[in-house]
Amino acid sequence: MVQSGSPIYRILYRSFQTSITSDTLDVVIDQIMNKAIKNNYAVGITGLLLAAKGHFFQVLEGETREVCAAYARILEDPRHQELHILSQGFARKRLFGEWNMCAANLTATDRSIVSALRSHADFDPQRISAPNAERLLVAVADHQRSAMPEAYI
Ligand code: FAD
Repeated sequence: MVQSGSPIYRILYRSFQTSITSDTLDVVIDQIMNKAIKNNYAVGITGLLLAAKGHFFQVLEGETREVCAAYARILEDPRHQELHILSQGFARKRLFGEWNMCAANLTATDRSIVSALRSHADFDPQRISAPNAERLLVAVADHQRSAMPEAYI
């Protein structure tokens, strides 16, 4: 568990979903969340998982050793592939501190969230920049907070 005053390490990555269809995505997210919430709580990791256009985006934040250990496990998971770290490094504070993991499935109707990217009403998961990806996840978190209690927490 991170002691108060310890630096927070944050990893933001993107991956391709594998063998997941629109029919099975919610079930897969539930399975991931059941494990993630329990494991992350035990080691003080917080974050957000976003499914969008056949991709996952995830932020993991906490003590460096724990975040890297979780990422190493996630890297080997067959439910996704081609993980690409968009950004990593120390942060002064957590962005998703209330959630050991929060999940959202971004649909085409969530235009208010996508518009948080300030560029256009659509986005390409393969081309999104790290700052825009972080902005997107923060916007999703804000949306989830306002949509409680439906959000996964
Ligand atoms: P177990 O749950 O016992 O799993 C043992 C092995 O089986 C692992 O290799 C695991 O990857 C694999 N496995 C388990 N369930 C399935 C399944 N349904 N389909 C295919 N393979 C499976 N875990 C976290 O702890 N924290 C997170 O924040 C987190 N985020 C994730 C985000 C994504 C996008 C994905 C795909 C997975 C995430 N996971 C997360 C799950 C992680 O990859 C591991 O499955 C999990 O941490 C392993 O938990 P465990 O050590 O208790 O092993």
